[in-house]
Amino acid sequence: KPLIGVLAVQGAFIEHEHKLEQLGAQCVELRQASDLNQQFDGIVLPGGESTVQGKLLRELGMFDDLKARIASGIPVLATCAGMILLANEVSQGKGTGAKSLSTFAESVAGSTLHVTSNTPDPAAPPYFATMNIKVRRNAYGRQLGSFRAIEEFKGLGAVPMTFIRGPLVEEVGEGVEVLARVDGDIVAVRQDNQLALSFHPELDADNSIHQLFLDMVKNK
Ligand code: GLN
Repeated sequence: KPLIGVLAVQGAFIEHEHKLEQLGAQCVELRQASDLNQQFDGIVLPGGESTVQGKLLRELGMFDDLKARIASGIPVLATCAGMILLANEVSQGKGTGAKSLSTFAESVAGSTLHVTSNTPDPAAPPYFATMNIKVRRNAYGRQLGSFRAIEEFKGLGAVPMTFIRGPLVEEVGEGVEVLARVDGDIVAVRQDNQLALSFHPELDADNSIHQLFLDMVKNK
């Protein structure tokens, strides 16, 4: 049985555990530094509040160890706030109405043009920064709220997607594969061992994304 370390300092981690256990994996909750001594085969970074999670990871002395494991190739499934923790560039949706709106409009229009505005982007320091993606927290547009969609996911077919104030992926860099989009917006990406989603597959009955993650763990 693969052993999956599920980050459990804050957020929606229980739902991931239930799903992974249904699929035959064993889970260990990562709540404090000593939990990291176990030899787990994969990591789940759940949804929740990325600022809170990032702060707790540092305060609990878990940050550097987790970052090192991710950088050295352990398979990771990151949802929502977890995706923000992986991104190497993070900006905030809040407080930049005009710019966010026009950036959103540009991305919907499929334009590659970058919007320049007088309002500077309030960039937040990134967290693990192991993934070549630029995300915007609490972005304007549909993802500001919560909604559901069913869209194609590369290699899996149609997958239900539940969004809860998820991050908007604004740019992907080298080595990042786009796996799914909703209304033209990127909502699922993979870079080698890291699989990151703007939505919450743990909240839907469909198991295909967790199975994909367990396959990544098995084939590692
Ligand atoms: N808005 C949250 C954040 O910025 C993410 C929401 C979620 O994980 N469902 O961290």
